[in-house]
Amino acid sequence: METIHTVPWMKQVAAQARRDDRVIGLVPTMGALHQGHLSLVRAAQKQCSPVVVSIFVNPKQFGPSEDFQKYPRTLEADRAVLQTSGVDYLFVPSPQEIYPAGFQTAVVVEGLSQRLEGRLRPGHFRGVTTVVLKLLEIAQPRLAFFGRKDAQQARIIRQMALDLNLGSEIVVCPIVREPDGLALSSRNSYLQGAERQAATVLYRSLDAVRREIAAGERNVAHLLISLRQVVTSEPAVTLDYAEIVDADTFEPILQLRKICYALIAARIGGTRLIDNALIEPVAESFEVTL
Ligand code: AMP
Repeated sequence: METIHTVPWMKQVAAQARRDDRVIGLVPTMGALHQGHLSLVRAAQKQCSPVVVSIFVNPKQFGPSEDFQKYPRTLEADRAVLQTSGVDYLFVPSPQEIYPAGFQTAVVVEGLSQRLEGRLRPGHFRGVTTVVLKLLEIAQPRLAFFGRKDAQQARIIRQMALDLNLGSEIVVCPIVREPDGLALSSRNSYLQGAERQAATVLYRSLDAVRREIAAGERNVAHLLISLRQVVTSEPAVTLDYAEIVDADTFEPILQLRKICYALIAARIGGTRLIDNALIEPVAESFEVTL
């Protein structure tokens, strides 16, 4: 595995791979890698060669009171695990490399970026789309891999790729979970003592919705009541939102009809976690994937 620190070097490698007619796969991450990230790497390796993993803790997607400073940075361990996994290139630019002095451009997907996560984290998606556009431009992937864990982010990036005629296909991969259901996240390392057990409430609330849908419930207001009830039963947890939205528009829906997401964001002590379930019409029923 070759580690690349600069934009011109990454662009040169990508240009050569393109000339050789190779299919570049990009997995953008902020590091502190876990099995969720590695599942994206494996998905990329099935379809692409070379595979590029980027590690960049993007300052522009953190709000002023968020965890940019304390975000876990474990570059040497990340490099070792990527090397063992057979990744071809690790792209680790510095903040100055991505945002040199005088940088003043931003990319915003209007509408989709204003709801849910975007409403609670103003400027977050603007930071995400700006850096992802740059990474796509630099690494020139035919396919770029994202996790459904960040469902709104994946939807926004797909919209950006469509709107700006980017040559990269956006592939969205399933959520990898701990045995007790907690979705893997670099931020899980913040959870202290009893908070770790309390954090499973996100999964448990989504699982309650899954069971109600399996029992025939279709009324979203009823589903939301149980979703929120499970969360509020856990005193250590503060709910930011629990919503069921259309998977395309991320607007709230009243009745299950098309593909939608049950989305949840909650805070446990100082740790903010998100999770979701995908709800899809299948035959005469609905299938819920956690
Ligand atoms: P991050 O490093 O948190 O920015 O995440 C990098 C990519 O990994 C994003 O596309 C995330 O959606 C994805 N990801 C994070 N956690 C998981 C997970 N538990 N399962 C699948 N993908 C994940």
